[in-house]
Amino acid sequence: MSDVLTIVVPCYNEEEVLPETIARLTDLTKAMIQERLISEQSTILLVDDGSKDKTWELIEQFSQTNPLIHGLKLSRNAGHQNALMAGLTVAVESADLLVSIDADLQDDCNCIRSFVEEYHKGFDIVYGVRSNRDSDTFFKRNTALAFYQLMKKLGVDMVYNHADFRLMSKRAVEALCQFDEVNLFLRGLVPLVGFSSTQVTYARAERFAGTSKYPFKKMLKFALEGITSFSVKPLRLITSLGCTISFISILAALYALISKLFGSTVQGWTSLILSIWFLGGLQLIGMGILGEYIGKLYQEVKHRPKFIIEKKL
Ligand code: UDP
Ligand code: MG
Repeated sequence: MSDVLTIVVPCYNEEEVLPETIARLTDLTKAMIQERLISEQSTILLVDDGSKDKTWELIEQFSQTNPLIHGLKLSRNAGHQNALMAGLTVAVESADLLVSIDADLQDDCNCIRSFVEEYHKGFDIVYGVRSNRDSDTFFKRNTALAFYQLMKKLGVDMVYNHADFRLMSKRAVEALCQFDEVNLFLRGLVPLVGFSSTQVTYARAERFAGTSKYPFKKMLKFALEGITSFSVKPLRLITSLGCTISFISILAALYALISKLFGSTVQGWTSLILSIWFLGGLQLIGMGILGEYIGKLYQEVKHRPKFIIEKKL
Protein backbone atom coordinates (compact mmCIF):
# COMPACT_ATOMS: atom_id res chain seq x y z
CA MET A 1 0.00 0.00 0.00
CA SER A 2 1.25 3.46 -0.69
CA ASP A 3 -0.96 5.54 1.53
CA VAL A 4 0.90 8.19 3.48
CA LEU A 5 0.13 8.28 7.20
CA THR A 6 0.81 11.28 9.40
CA ILE A 7 0.47 10.95 13.16
CA VAL A 8 -0.33 14.34 14.67
CA VAL A 9 0.69 14.83 18.30
CA PRO A 10 -0.15 18.06 20.17
CA CYS A 11 2.44 18.73 22.86
CA TYR A 12 2.26 21.27 25.65
CA ASN A 13 5.10 21.13 28.19
CA GLU A 14 5.70 17.46 27.48
CA GLU A 15 9.52 17.26 27.80
CA GLU A 16 9.27 14.45 30.34
CA VAL A 17 7.29 12.11 28.15
CA LEU A 18 8.32 13.16 24.65
CA PRO A 19 11.43 10.94 24.17
CA GLU A 20 9.41 7.85 25.06
CA THR A 21 6.47 8.93 22.88
CA ILE A 22 8.77 9.52 19.93
CA ALA A 23 10.50 6.16 20.45
CA ARG A 24 7.23 4.24 20.56
CA LEU A 25 5.62 6.02 17.63
CA THR A 26 8.79 5.65 15.58
CA ASP A 27 8.97 1.89 16.21
CA LEU A 28 5.34 1.51 15.31
CA THR A 29 5.58 3.61 12.15
CA LYS A 30 8.70 1.77 10.99
CA ALA A 31 7.02 -1.59 11.57
CA MET A 32 3.94 -0.54 9.64
CA ILE A 33 6.07 0.74 6.76
CA GLN A 34 7.89 -2.58 6.67
CA GLU A 35 4.61 -4.46 6.59
CA ARG A 36 3.59 -2.19 3.71
CA LEU A 37 0.54 -1.03 5.62
CA ILE A 38 1.59 2.56 4.98
CA SER A 39 3.92 4.40 2.64
CA GLU A 40 7.53 5.09 3.56
CA GLN A 41 6.74 8.79 3.21
CA SER A 42 4.71 8.55 6.40
CA THR A 43 5.60 10.96 9.18
CA ILE A 44 5.03 11.91 12.80
CA LEU A 45 4.11 15.56 13.22
CA LEU A 46 4.74 17.00 16.68
CA VAL A 47 2.91 20.26 17.30
CA ASP A 48 4.45 22.37 20.04
CA ASP A 49 1.59 24.36 21.52
CA GLY A 50 3.65 27.23 22.93
CA SER A 51 5.41 25.10 25.54
CA LYS A 52 7.46 26.84 28.20
CA ASP A 53 9.81 23.91 28.76
CA LYS A 54 12.25 22.16 26.43
CA THR A 55 9.56 20.53 24.26
CA TRP A 56 10.49 22.41 21.09
CA GLU A 57 14.23 21.91 21.59
CA LEU A 58 13.56 18.19 21.90
CA ILE A 59 11.47 18.15 18.73
CA GLU A 60 14.28 19.94 16.87
CA GLN A 61 16.88 17.51 18.17
CA PHE A 62 14.89 14.43 17.28
CA SER A 63 14.01 15.73 13.83
CA GLN A 64 17.72 16.00 13.01
CA THR A 65 18.41 12.34 13.62
CA ASN A 66 15.03 10.78 12.94
CA PRO A 67 13.67 11.40 9.44
CA LEU A 68 10.15 10.43 10.51
CA ILE A 69 9.90 13.33 12.94
CA HIS A 70 8.51 16.63 11.73
CA GLY A 71 7.74 19.62 13.92
CA LEU A 72 5.35 22.54 14.01
CA LYS A 73 5.69 25.31 16.57
CA LEU A 74 2.76 27.55 17.44
CA SER A 75 3.57 31.13 18.39
CA ARG A 76 1.79 30.82 21.74
CA ASN A 77 -0.33 28.38 23.70
CA ALA A 78 -3.45 28.06 21.58
CA GLY A 79 -4.97 25.13 23.43
CA HIS A 80 -5.20 21.43 22.72
CA GLN A 81 -8.01 21.60 20.14
CA ASN A 82 -6.39 24.41 18.16
CA ALA A 83 -2.98 22.75 18.27
CA LEU A 84 -4.50 19.54 16.96
CA MET A 85 -6.35 21.38 14.22
CA ALA A 86 -3.15 23.23 13.25
CA GLY A 87 -1.38 19.90 12.87
CA LEU A 88 -4.20 18.35 10.85
CA THR A 89 -4.48 21.39 8.57
CA VAL A 90 -0.78 21.32 7.76
CA ALA A 91 -0.47 17.54 7.49
CA VAL A 92 -3.51 16.98 5.28
CA GLU A 93 -1.65 18.54 2.36
CA SER A 94 0.72 15.61 2.11
CA ALA A 95 -1.02 12.77 3.96
CA ASP A 96 -3.71 10.31 2.88
CA LEU A 97 -4.65 9.26 6.38
CA LEU A 98 -4.14 11.13 9.63
CA VAL A 99 -4.11 9.90 13.19
CA SER A 100 -4.29 12.21 16.19
CA ILE A 101 -2.98 11.08 19.55
CA ASP A 102 -2.03 12.80 22.81
CA ALA A 103 1.63 13.02 23.72
CA ASP A 104 1.23 11.45 27.14
CA LEU A 105 0.89 7.81 25.99
CA GLN A 106 -2.44 7.34 27.77
CA ASP A 107 -3.86 6.04 24.53
CA ASP A 108 -2.50 2.72 23.36
CA CYS A 109 -0.41 3.55 20.28
CA ASN A 110 -0.51 -0.05 19.09
CA CYS A 111 -4.16 0.61 18.28
CA ILE A 112 -3.00 2.81 15.42
CA ARG A 113 -2.26 -0.41 13.53
CA SER A 114 -5.90 -1.48 13.95
CA PHE A 115 -7.00 2.01 12.90
CA VAL A 116 -5.00 1.68 9.69
CA GLU A 117 -6.43 -1.78 9.04
CA GLU A 118 -9.95 -0.40 9.43
CA TYR A 119 -9.02 2.43 7.08
CA HIS A 120 -7.96 -0.13 4.47
CA LYS A 121 -11.34 -1.78 4.88
CA GLY A 122 -12.82 1.47 3.65
CA PHE A 123 -13.68 3.47 6.76
CA ASP A 124 -13.02 7.20 6.65
CA ILE A 125 -13.09 7.76 10.38
CA VAL A 126 -11.94 5.35 13.09
CA TYR A 127 -12.70 6.37 16.66
CA GLY A 128 -10.52 5.13 19.49
CA VAL A 129 -12.91 4.28 22.30
CA ARG A 130 -11.69 3.52 25.80
CA SER A 131 -13.01 0.32 27.26
CA ASN A 132 -12.66 1.44 30.85
CA ARG A 133 -12.09 4.48 32.98
CA ASP A 134 -10.09 2.70 35.67
CA SER A 135 -7.23 5.14 35.31
CA ASP A 136 -9.55 8.06 36.11
CA THR A 137 -10.45 9.36 39.54
CA PHE A 138 -13.97 8.71 40.83
CA PHE A 139 -14.72 12.39 40.26
CA LYS A 140 -13.50 12.54 36.66
CA ARG A 141 -15.27 9.31 35.77
CA ASN A 142 -18.63 10.52 37.01
CA THR A 143 -18.43 14.07 35.74
CA ALA A 144 -17.46 12.69 32.33
CA LEU A 145 -20.45 10.35 32.36
CA ALA A 146 -22.79 13.18 33.37
CA PHE A 147 -21.36 15.31 30.58
CA TYR A 148 -21.95 12.69 27.89
CA GLN A 149 -25.52 12.19 29.11
CA LEU A 150 -26.18 15.91 29.14
CA MET A 151 -24.82 16.30 25.61
CA LYS A 152 -27.06 13.48 24.45
CA LYS A 153 -30.07 15.21 25.99
CA LEU A 154 -29.08 18.42 24.23
CA GLY A 155 -29.12 16.53 20.96
CA VAL A 156 -25.37 16.51 20.30
CA ASP A 157 -24.05 13.45 18.49
CA MET A 158 -20.89 12.31 20.28
CA VAL A 159 -19.06 9.01 20.51
CA TYR A 160 -19.18 7.78 24.09
CA ASN A 161 -15.80 7.47 25.83
CA HIS A 162 -13.91 8.74 22.83
CA ALA A 163 -11.36 11.53 23.22
CA ASP A 164 -9.21 12.90 20.45
CA PHE A 165 -7.56 9.59 19.54
CA ARG A 166 -8.79 8.82 16.05
CA LEU A 167 -7.95 8.21 12.43
CA MET A 168 -9.37 10.33 9.65
CA SER A 169 -8.95 9.97 5.91
CA LYS A 170 -7.71 12.86 3.83
CA ARG A 171 -11.19 13.73 2.61
CA ALA A 172 -12.60 13.61 6.14
CA VAL A 173 -9.95 16.05 7.38
CA GLU A 174 -10.51 18.27 4.37
CA ALA A 175 -14.20 18.30 5.22
CA LEU A 176 -13.38 19.05 8.85
CA CYS A 177 -11.31 22.03 7.69
CA GLN A 178 -14.47 23.48 6.13
CA PHE A 179 -15.86 24.04 9.60
CA ASP A 180 -14.19 27.34 10.22
CA GLU A 181 -15.56 28.07 13.65
CA VAL A 182 -13.22 29.58 16.20
CA ASN A 183 -14.43 27.72 19.28
CA LEU A 184 -13.32 24.22 18.46
CA PHE A 185 -14.82 21.15 20.05
CA LEU A 186 -13.54 18.43 17.75
CA ARG A 187 -15.34 15.59 19.51
CA GLY A 188 -18.61 17.15 18.44
CA LEU A 189 -17.48 18.27 15.01
CA VAL A 190 -16.03 15.03 13.70
CA PRO A 191 -19.37 13.15 13.79
CA LEU A 192 -20.87 16.06 11.82
CA VAL A 193 -18.36 15.42 9.05
CA GLY A 194 -20.15 12.17 8.30
CA PHE A 195 -18.66 9.45 6.03
CA SER A 196 -18.40 5.86 7.16
CA SER A 197 -16.93 5.35 10.60
CA THR A 198 -16.10 2.58 13.01
CA GLN A 199 -14.64 2.15 16.48
CA VAL A 200 -11.66 0.40 17.99
CA THR A 201 -11.69 -0.11 21.75
CA TYR A 202 -8.62 0.00 23.94
CA ALA A 203 -7.73 0.22 27.60
CA ARG A 204 -6.58 3.69 28.51
CA ALA A 205 -3.50 3.82 30.70
CA GLU A 206 -2.18 6.34 33.19
CA ARG A 207 -0.14 9.24 31.90
CA PHE A 208 3.38 7.89 31.21
CA ALA A 209 5.14 10.90 32.75
CA GLY A 210 4.48 14.52 33.61
CA THR A 211 1.20 15.98 34.84
CA SER A 212 -2.19 16.55 33.24
CA LYS A 213 -2.42 19.74 31.18
CA TYR A 214 -6.15 19.76 31.78
CA PRO A 215 -6.75 20.96 35.32
CA PHE A 216 -10.35 21.06 36.56
CA LYS A 217 -10.90 24.67 35.48
CA LYS A 218 -9.82 23.98 31.89
CA MET A 219 -11.96 20.83 31.81
CA LEU A 220 -15.02 22.77 32.90
CA LYS A 221 -14.34 25.42 30.27
CA PHE A 222 -13.99 22.70 27.66
CA ALA A 223 -17.31 21.12 28.68
CA LEU A 224 -19.08 24.48 28.49
CA GLU A 225 -17.48 24.98 25.10
CA GLY A 226 -18.99 21.71 23.97
CA ILE A 227 -22.46 22.65 25.17
CA THR A 228 -22.55 26.20 23.90
CA SER A 229 -20.93 25.41 20.55
CA PHE A 230 -23.36 22.69 19.69
CA SER A 231 -26.69 23.41 21.26
CA VAL A 232 -29.06 26.35 21.48
CA LYS A 233 -31.32 24.35 23.74
CA PRO A 234 -30.21 26.27 26.86
CA LEU A 235 -31.65 29.41 25.19
CA ARG A 236 -34.88 27.60 24.48
CA LEU A 237 -35.00 26.63 28.14
CA ILE A 238 -35.68 30.30 28.95
CA THR A 239 -38.89 30.21 26.92
CA SER A 240 -40.13 27.10 28.71
CA LEU A 241 -39.22 28.66 32.02
CA GLY A 242 -41.14 31.81 31.06
CA CYS A 243 -44.22 29.79 30.14
CA THR A 244 -44.02 27.87 33.42
CA ILE A 245 -43.74 31.06 35.45
CA SER A 246 -46.64 32.59 33.53
CA PHE A 247 -48.75 29.57 34.34
CA ILE A 248 -47.75 29.78 37.99
CA SER A 249 -48.73 33.46 37.90
CA ILE A 250 -52.32 32.40 37.19
CA LEU A 251 -52.26 30.17 40.25
CA ALA A 252 -50.63 32.94 42.25
CA ALA A 253 -53.35 35.32 41.07
CA LEU A 254 -56.06 32.97 42.30
CA TYR A 255 -54.31 32.55 45.62
CA ALA A 256 -53.79 36.28 46.03
CA LEU A 257 -57.38 37.12 45.15
CA ILE A 258 -58.77 34.51 47.51
CA SER A 259 -56.48 35.76 50.26
CA LYS A 260 -57.73 39.30 49.62
CA LEU A 261 -61.39 38.21 49.68
CA PHE A 262 -60.89 36.63 53.06
CA GLY A 263 -59.27 39.85 54.16
CA SER A 264 -56.09 38.35 55.48
CA THR A 265 -53.77 40.54 53.42
CA VAL A 266 -51.92 43.77 53.96
CA GLN A 267 -52.92 46.71 51.78
CA GLY A 268 -51.06 46.68 48.44
CA TRP A 269 -49.80 43.11 48.73
CA THR A 270 -52.19 41.62 46.16
CA SER A 271 -51.33 43.99 43.32
CA LEU A 272 -47.63 43.73 44.16
CA ILE A 273 -47.48 39.94 44.18
CA LEU A 274 -49.55 39.71 40.99
CA SER A 275 -47.26 42.10 39.14
CA ILE A 276 -44.17 40.25 40.27
CA TRP A 277 -45.32 36.89 38.95
CA PHE A 278 -46.94 38.17 35.82
CA LEU A 279 -44.13 40.47 34.75
CA GLY A 280 -41.49 37.88 35.67
CA GLY A 281 -43.12 35.38 33.33
CA LEU A 282 -43.55 37.96 30.61
CA GLN A 283 -39.91 39.02 30.81
CA LEU A 284 -38.68 35.45 30.60
CA ILE A 285 -40.85 34.77 27.56
CA GLY A 286 -39.46 37.94 25.99
CA MET A 287 -35.91 36.81 26.66
CA GLY A 288 -36.72 33.41 25.25
CA ILE A 289 -37.93 34.97 22.00
CA LEU A 290 -34.75 37.03 21.80
CA GLY A 291 -32.86 33.83 22.54
CA GLU A 292 -34.43 32.11 19.55
CA TYR A 293 -33.09 34.82 17.26
CA ILE A 294 -29.70 34.90 18.93
CA GLY A 295 -29.51 31.13 18.52
CA LYS A 296 -30.24 31.52 14.82
CA LEU A 297 -27.64 34.25 14.48
CA TYR A 298 -25.12 32.08 16.29
CA GLN A 299 -25.68 29.22 13.92
CA GLU A 300 -25.42 31.53 10.92
CA VAL A 301 -22.15 33.15 11.97
CA LYS A 302 -20.54 29.77 12.53
CA HIS A 303 -20.86 29.26 8.81
CA ARG A 304 -20.75 25.49 9.02
CA PRO A 305 -20.87 23.65 5.70
CA LYS A 306 -24.46 22.80 4.85
CA PHE A 307 -23.46 19.50 3.27
CA ILE A 308 -20.39 17.47 2.43
CA ILE A 309 -20.33 15.48 -0.77
CA GLU A 310 -19.11 11.92 -0.50
CA LYS A 311 -19.32 10.70 -4.11
CA LYS A 312 -20.12 11.99 -7.56
CA LEU A 313 -21.02 9.82 -10.53
N1 UDP B 1 -2.18 19.96 25.21
C1 UDP B 1 -1.92 20.99 24.30
N2 UDP B 1 -2.21 22.28 24.67
C2 UDP B 1 -2.77 22.59 25.88
C3 UDP B 1 -3.08 21.54 26.77
C4 UDP B 1 -2.77 20.23 26.40
O1 UDP B 1 -1.44 20.75 23.21
O2 UDP B 1 -3.00 23.77 26.12
C5 UDP B 1 -1.88 18.57 24.82
C6 UDP B 1 -1.04 17.79 25.80
O3 UDP B 1 0.33 17.99 25.57
C7 UDP B 1 -1.47 16.37 25.53
C8 UDP B 1 -2.91 16.52 25.13
O4 UDP B 1 -3.10 17.87 24.77
O5 UDP B 1 -0.76 15.82 24.44
C9 UDP B 1 -3.88 16.12 26.23
O6 UDP B 1 -3.54 16.73 27.44
P1 UDP B 1 -3.49 15.93 28.81
O7 UDP B 1 -2.99 14.55 28.57
O8 UDP B 1 -2.71 16.74 29.80
O9 UDP B 1 -5.02 15.91 29.21
P2 UDP B 1 -5.76 14.77 30.10
O10 UDP B 1 -5.44 13.45 29.47
O11 UDP B 1 -5.22 14.90 31.47
O12 UDP B 1 -7.21 15.13 29.99
MG1 MG C 1 -3.71 12.74 28.99
